[in-house]
Parts: sequence; C-alpha cells; structure tokens
Amino acid sequence: MDQSSLNSLLKPKSVAVVGASSQPGKIGYTVIENLIKGGYKGKLYPINPTATEILSLPVVPSVTALPEAVDLAVITVPVKLVAQVVEECGQKGIKALSVITSGFSEVGRKDLEDQMLEIARRYGMCVLGPNIVGTLSNSDELNASFAPFLPFPGKATLITQSGALLIAMDAITYTRKVGFDKMISIGNMADVDFADLITWLDTDPNTSCICLYIEGFKDGRKFIEASRKTKKPIIALKAGVSAHGAAAAASHTGSLAGAVKVYGAAFQQAGVVQASDLNNLFDRTLALSLQPPLRKENLLIITNGGGVGVLATDAAERYGIPLKFAPADVQEELKKHMPAFGSAKNPVDLTGMAGNDWYYESVKFAYAHPWTDGLVVLYCETAMTNPLEIAQAIKKAIDETGVKDHPVVVSMVGGTRCDQAMQWLVENGIPAYPAPDEAMNGMAALREYNNIRQMIADDGDGCDPTGSKISREIIAKARADGRGSLTEIEAKQVFSAYGLPVTETNLSKSEDEAVTLAKKTGFPIVMKVVSPDIIHKSDAGGVKVNIKDEAGVRSAYQTILKNCKAYKADADIRGIAVQEMAPLGTEVIVGSINDPTFGPTVMFGLGGIFVEVLKDVTFRVAPVNKQQVSQMVGEIRSVAILAGARGEAPRDRAALEDLICRYATMVYDLRDEVAETDANPVLVYEEGKGLKVVDARVILKKK
Ligand code: ADP
Ligand code: MG
Repeated sequence: MDQSSLNSLLKPKSVAVVGASSQPGKIGYTVIENLIKGGYKGKLYPINPTATEILSLPVVPSVTALPEAVDLAVITVPVKLVAQVVEECGQKGIKALSVITSGFSEVGRKDLEDQMLEIARRYGMCVLGPNIVGTLSNSDELNASFAPFLPFPGKATLITQSGALLIAMDAITYTRKVGFDKMISIGNMADVDFADLITWLDTDPNTSCICLYIEGFKDGRKFIEASRKTKKPIIALKAGVSAHGAAAAASHTGSLAGAVKVYGAAFQQAGVVQASDLNNLFDRTLALSLQPPLRKENLLIITNGGGVGVLATDAAERYGIPLKFAPADVQEELKKHMPAFGSAKNPVDLTGMAGNDWYYESVKFAYAHPWTDGLVVLYCETAMTNPLEIAQAIKKAIDETGVKDHPVVVSMVGGTRCDQAMQWLVENGIPAYPAPDEAMNGMAALREYNNIRQMIADDGDGCDPTGSKISREIIAKARADGRGSLTEIEAKQVFSAYGLPVTETNLSKSEDEAVTLAKKTGFPIVMKVVSPDIIHKSDAGGVKVNIKDEAGVRSAYQTILKNCKAYKADADIRGIAVQEMAPLGTEVIVGSINDPTFGPTVMFGLGGIFVEVLKDVTFRVAPVNKQQVSQMVGEIRSVAILAGARGEAPRDRAALEDLICRYATMVYDLRDEVAETDANPVLVYEEGKGLKVVDARVILKKK
C-alpha cells in the first residue's frame, strides 16, 4: 500500500461526491450535507449527470468533466455503475476512493469487488470499502460520510468493520465524553485494511490512540507486523469470538483453538491492548488517548469517601494491579491535608470534609513525589463541595508539578454537576469516569499497554529451521500413499528432524519381528497400533505400556490386533510399533493448528485434567522467539505444577521452552503442508533431565 495515497484518502484537499443527489434522504445528498455541515474547507464537487445545483453548490455532470483531479472521490452510485465510475476516476488521475456503495462481497458478489479493485490497482488508486459509512475527521473538518455529525473531539481514532456501529459510537462519544479525532469505516477491506491504516495513523499528529472494532482480518500476520511497529497505543475489541475454529478438528489442539484464544495470542504478539466489550472499549480508549502508560507499580488512590476507595481497591485487584502503602514520609505529609480521622495509607482518605484545598495540596504533593508512578483521584459528591471546583483544583495541582510521564485518572461519583465537572476534566486532558472501578479499568489499560509493549520490545532469538528436506520426503510419501496424516512413526521422524527428543520407535509386521525389536530396544517397552484409520490409539485399545518380556510382547501384539479389529473391522493396520518406554514425568501437550487468519499457531498446556477439563492452554502465532515462549509457559493457570507442586522437584523448564520454540519453527517451516499437529503427551523430567515426546500426530493439509 502506497501510504501517500492514504494522505489523499484521509486528508484530501479536494473531494468529489460521485452520485450526489438533490433529494434529501438519499445518501448522495447526506454526504454533501455532512461535508458542508462539518465545515470542510477544501474544494467540494457534487457529481450528478442531471442536477445543476445541490445545497447551493454547482454540480459537475461527470468525473470526466471535473476541472481538476481531486484527491478523494466518495462513491455513492448504485453498485452496477461503480466499475465505470472507478475507471473514470482512474483516467482523471484521482488518487483515493471511498466506496460507500454496498452490494459487493458482503452479499456474495466478490466478483464485482475484484473487478473494481483491478481497475483501481491499474491506476494506482487506493480503495476504502466498499460497503462503508465513510470517513470523519475533526482536525480536517471532514465528514465524508453519512454519519450525521463529527464525533466529540479528542485524540483517539476509530477504525471499525461495522458501519452501523460507527454511527452509534459517533453518537455515544457525546454522551460518554470520549473524544475522537477520526472515525474510519473500513467495510469489506477490498484494498485498504487495518494494517495500512494503523501504519498511517502512527504518524498522524492528531491521533494519540488507535481504537479498533474488529470482526475478522484477511491477513492476520500483516496486522501483527504493522501493530508491532506502531509507537501509539492500540486497543481492540474483537467481535465474534465464539463461533470459529472449534468445529470438527482432527487434532487435540484443533479442538482447543477458538478465535478468542488465537486472536488473543495475536494481540499479545502485536502489542495490542484488548477491550472486553463496548463500554470497556470507550473506558480504555479514554485513558489511552489522554494519558501516558503506567510504567511502574506505585499507584496511589486519593479519595474523599471510604466506600469508593474500597471499590477502587477491589477493582485494582481484579485487574491485577498491586497496591502498596506509600512510604512513611509521604504519609506524614499527606496527613497535613486531612482531619485526624482520615487515612494516609492507600487509598488516602481525605474524608468527606475535603474541600478544594485539601484535594489541591494532597494531589500536588503525591503526584510530584518520586515514589508515585500513577494516581487515581476519586470524589464523591457532597453537599459542601462544588464538583467543578474540585476538578479544577485537581487539574491545577497536576499541572503545577510539571510531571508529564505519570498517568492520572479521576472518578467523580454523583449527578449532573459531576458530569459537567468530568467533561471539563476530559476537555483538559484528564480521563474522568462516573464510577471508581471504571477509572481503575482505565488505569489498568495504561498498565497493560506498558507491559505488553515491554514484552514485545525484545525480539529475542528464534530457532533455526532444520529437517525441512527429510520432512518433505516423508510427507510426500504419505501423500503418494493416499493418506491425509502421518503415522506416529513418520511424525516422530519429522519431529526428530527438527531436533525434538522423541522415543525410539520401530515398526513390526509380525509377532516375531516385534520380539526382535523389543529385545533390541531393551525392556520395558511400549507397543502401539499403526493405522491411518486409527487416530486416537488408546480409544481403540491400541496401546500397551510397560511390557517387560517376550511373552508380554507376543500377548500385546495379539491383544492390540484383536482390539483394533473390534474397534474398526476394516481398519488398515500397517503393523505394531515397538518403542522404548519413557520414564514417568509431568505430562504436557504441545500442538499446532494452521489458523485460517494467522496461519501456523502453536499451543501449549499441561496434560491430563488441565487440558481435558480446564482447557488451560495458551497459543502463539508461529514462529516464536525464546522470550515469547517463556511468557507463553508462564501464562497457563497451572504453571505452578512445573515449578514442583506437592514436594516434587521442579521440571526442566528450559528444555520445555526449547522444545516449544523448535516446534513452532517446525510448523512454520512446514506450513504449506501441515494442517494440525500434536505432541501429546510430552513427558517433562526434573531440571537438567530434559523431556521426551512419546506420541506424535501430524495431520496434512488437504491438497
Ligand atoms: P493416543 O494418544 O493415540 O491414544 P499415545 O501414544 O499418546 O496414544 O499413548 C497413550 C498413553 O500411553 C500416553 O498418554 C502415555 O501416557 C502412554 N505412553 C505412550 N507411549 C509411551 C512411551 N513410549 N513411554 C511411556 N508412556 C507412553
Ligand atoms: Mg497421545
């Protein structure tokens, strides 16, 4: 994407509205009306073949007849005319198109979208949409949309995949007093996508925070790359986290991967803060757009009411923010601005007697003090105080300290007077919320933003791919054999080619051969059925462990065959695998899927009930570096088990992390061939003693 064409799209010096109408109620009329009402200062050309004047503006009969190549053409003509119009725009030398018209891929007409795009590309034009509301920008006084007004002014920019939500959120900005500079409806993303806009907005001086409403990406990796590079906070609300991925998966990992987990992993890797719902998106956007990140842990709460202080404390715990008491000297000083029954601990309770002065003095002292990394100021409406004066005292105190890199958020709990005071605060750059838990949520977003950026700051070492050639030969053989998956033996050969420690496994075709192999391997051994028709071997009675002698081998051989035939009469049984028996260890599962949006994605979790019942697993888009793997392992709820629960020695976490890193390299390297994989279980031993993959599964991509 040529970023300069986005300048024409988002900061056009001249705009043509193709399909402008003189009939109120038509989109072609509304867009012209909105551009005028929004105060657009550039050249504006309504285009319509028959009208002569629309809203007092002279009308141009066609794109071809325009007196200049405008920066932006907003297209509102019926879908059947779009291709023709786009062609004319290209010939005219127009740089950017905003296609409001719908009736493309969203109704199954991807062909029309492709046709339009092909013409636009030929002329080097960028296309926003189609199927959009348009674009709005306060700083450019540009409302090139059919949303009725520019948003409540501020420094956030919204990119939304839902046009209806843009119009609704636009209205909400006024009731919630969350300021936006721009709102961009991205529609079908035929051309311009989230990543392109994020890259452009990173250098937009009027945007301090990028706010996303996402339904789905076309290219997830492009989004991760663009977001990682951005120096501004990005906050995302992902809709539709329930319906995807979990359906009919052949591997264990496949059944555990849902959009919520994979998108969550991608946001982590992209350094994107997440919002849980629409209100949360507004609360967090407000804080992220106005305040610096919370870089360290010392957060102080100042309040005039014990109740709201406790609610804020509860919320802090919910968001994982530790609260500490301020040091003695800070407490001493704060005590000067409260009655004897106040509290200088944390929350600092100035009591209901606190007026403007006490707020001013305590905020000023606390905010300027080197101990303080961030401040949450709470206020309950009282009969004796004026909320606006309190707000002004807080702002004055903050400004006078000269401190700029510590965040502050405010909550004023009360009625209309509090609302007015909070609006004043927001207009003066301080996020203010009607409830203490919402203020704490804003602070939590500032903290998460800091932490997530730190996590992705270091690229860290990855693992070099190896084993590609051997693996591809094994895969080709399986495909030639008409199989959609590898046998355990083949899968282990692939794993081993990438440096994963696997149990030694050999195929026997007869009882005698099994005995020979068992003796060579050394007892005890494990025997397993090898059949492309039996994916879950234990379910078929196809696994026998801890076989100690020749008689055991012979009987296991027969039992496994009998069980598997009973399980599936026509199963194609290729033989029985004889493998070394790994000593007991902590069972973990490592696996991968090839996600439709993000491609190869690895999973890790503890085995047994942790994965079966608790679904305590975590994902990362592959490949991953060592640092990401370390975070990944630390993220599961049951991580304490690895540190050595119930008196057990700690497990070999270094070996585990190395395995996951190699595994991710492997599935990324083989992404064109491999759909899903599992190493389930991997047995992890004591520190320094490594681990062993005892079962391996590779499901191939359908070709
Ligand atoms: P499946 O998952 O197809 O049912 P596995 O190969 O995972 O079959 O075997 C089932 C269980 O048997 C494993 O979860 C593990 O507990 C145990 N097991 C399998 N192979 C070995 C081995 N080589 N050493 C020790 N235990 C094993
Ligand atoms: Mg298994």
